[in-house]
Amino acid sequence: MTKRLQAKPTVLTVDDDPDVLRAIERDLRQNYGKRFRVLRANSGVAALEVVKQVKLRNQAVAMFLVDQRMPHMTGVEFLQQAMELFPEAKRVLLTAYADTDAAIRAINMVKIDYYLLKPWHPPDENLYPVLNDLLDDWQASFHPQFEGIRVIGSRWSPQSHQIKDFLGRNLVPYQWLDIEADSEARRLVTYAKCHAAHLPLVLLPDGSHFIKPTNVEIAEKIGLRTQAQLPFYDLIIVGAGPAGLAAAVYATSEGLSTVLIEREAPGGQAGTSSRIENYLGFPVGLSGGDLTRRAVTQAKRFGVELLWPQEVIGVRVEDQYRIVTLADGSELSCHALIIATGVSYRLLNVPGIKQLTGAGVYYGAAKTEAIACSGEDVFIVGGANSAGQAAMYFSKYASSVTILVRGDSLGKSMSKYLCDQIEATKNISVQTYSTIIEVKGEARLEAITIANSNSGQKQTFPATSLFIFVGALPHTNWLEGVLERDEQGFILTGPDLKRNGRHPQGWTLKRDPFLLETSVPGIFAMGDVRYGSVKRVASAVGEGAIAVQFIHQYLSKV
Ligand SMILES: Cc1cc2nc3c(=O)[nH]c(=O)nc-3n(C[C@H](O)[C@H](O)[C@H](O)COP(=O)(O)OP(=O)(O)OC[C@H]3O[C@@H](n4cnc5c(N)ncnc54)[C@H](O)[C@@H]3O)c2cc1C
Repeated sequence: MTKRLQAKPTVLTVDDDPDVLRAIERDLRQNYGKRFRVLRANSGVAALEVVKQVKLRNQAVAMFLVDQRMPHMTGVEFLQQAMELFPEAKRVLLTAYADTDAAIRAINMVKIDYYLLKPWHPPDENLYPVLNDLLDDWQASFHPQFEGIRVIGSRWSPQSHQIKDFLGRNLVPYQWLDIEADSEARRLVTYAKCHAAHLPLVLLPDGSHFIKPTNVEIAEKIGLRTQAQLPFYDLIIVGAGPAGLAAAVYATSEGLSTVLIEREAPGGQAGTSSRIENYLGFPVGLSGGDLTRRAVTQAKRFGVELLWPQEVIGVRVEDQYRIVTLADGSELSCHALIIATGVSYRLLNVPGIKQLTGAGVYYGAAKTEAIACSGEDVFIVGGANSAGQAAMYFSKYASSVTILVRGDSLGKSMSKYLCDQIEATKNISVQTYSTIIEVKGEARLEAITIANSNSGQKQTFPATSLFIFVGALPHTNWLEGVLERDEQGFILTGPDLKRNGRHPQGWTLKRDPFLLETSVPGIFAMGDVRYGSVKRVASAVGEGAIAVQFIHQYLSKV
């Protein structure tokens, strides 16, 4: 998204007499046009519409300069309503001599800052000195508004969570306004003429808005590319986690025309990590978001074409071409194809959980929801590093964090550095031998029931937030019948394909599959999706680099 310049604050003048309106607008523009946006309206009603639009754009009003005597709505009546939207704006009444008494009364009624008598000529004497003072005063206490995207919805709405997660994972700054907690949110929803039942509402800085948008609609608006520029590439990479991004960097830096296709957000699982502490070269650790930003910049610098959000749903082979089908029905072809689609969280199968997912129950999502959990009690299910990292992250916001593990300790599945950190953090506790057996709630999570496998006890606790990190599986059904996979869906590569010293079925070449090559020549798999892979950022990155060497060898023979 291109960075927008901070919009100039508005000075709005309102008068029903067209000659007066033109004259005051001209004088205002002449002296303040460089610092302020001067707008005009010929009635109180029209002015209120302007004010609402300014509010929807999240811009500021510095001053209202309003005629008192107007039909339908007097200046004072207009100011009474406009003040609700911009209480900090300076308020000046334009009055005829005969209206002086009304203006004085208005000083108390709407706390006007000044009243000016018409005519004001010469402005250098009768207008600018007063307005300069007021505008300088306003500027001194003005704090610029947040300039980006605003998302308004309910904290317990799965659609709101999906939009926040999409923006967060794509590193797009946004402001979250909770309709249940924020009066500003309720006002904006009214101005956008959006019914509360139709939330979430997404307000864009250009003043446009979306009601319940899809990720693709948001992506198009913020300038992400979902369509490829060419029909054919040397290399197509599916999945922009660490493996796919690393392969993209090496492939493009070595001259291969490469497109990288990602269905959610670059960074993959690593992108959701709050702190990666074991990646070489970052002694104090770095967040997944930071790693992703650096990797995407690096890949783009070398010229990779990145499509996202765009899902690959099928692959077929035609002679030396590998052809992928995208979710929108379009196709792209290439000589070499990399599958780097990683794994996704395994779903927990307990009563009540499906309808509460996104409404208090979340898979991963630590970074998206952490601030909303401030001061609350948070439960985390899982005993691996991802759960440990999330616990550390939540401990900064939540009042207490309880990690539920099935085994007798964390030590068996979690790295020692994380166990030590958890041990030293006062508001994190670990509940061993514990399995969630039910979650309850109407529109949002209200309680969880935990069974203790040691004591046989079942206990129900009130709960508002449950975060699940219970292992992950590859989603590779779309490769069925094309590539050989194990029973869980992990893709077999290289030496793992040979059974009893024989090549995989359908293998047409004399040579053995290269390391990281699948059962189809020219299609490679790497990272977490590969059978037998080490589930680490560094190993995924390493495989990305290695695969490109084999792709060169493969391409030299095509
Ligand atoms: C919360 C968390 C914390 C972690 N912390 C650490 C850590 O501290 N240190 C460490 O070494 N490892 C850590 N890991 C593990 C590490 O992140 C993974 O091993 C690594 O991300 C695997 O990289 P990958 O590229 O193989 O796959 P992934 O990271 O899973 O990326 C795969 C990408 O492919 C995309 N995709 C999937 N299917 C399709 C499709 N059909 N079309 C298009 N795109 C698709 C996905 O959306 C995803 O972005 C952590 C994992 C998690 C979840």
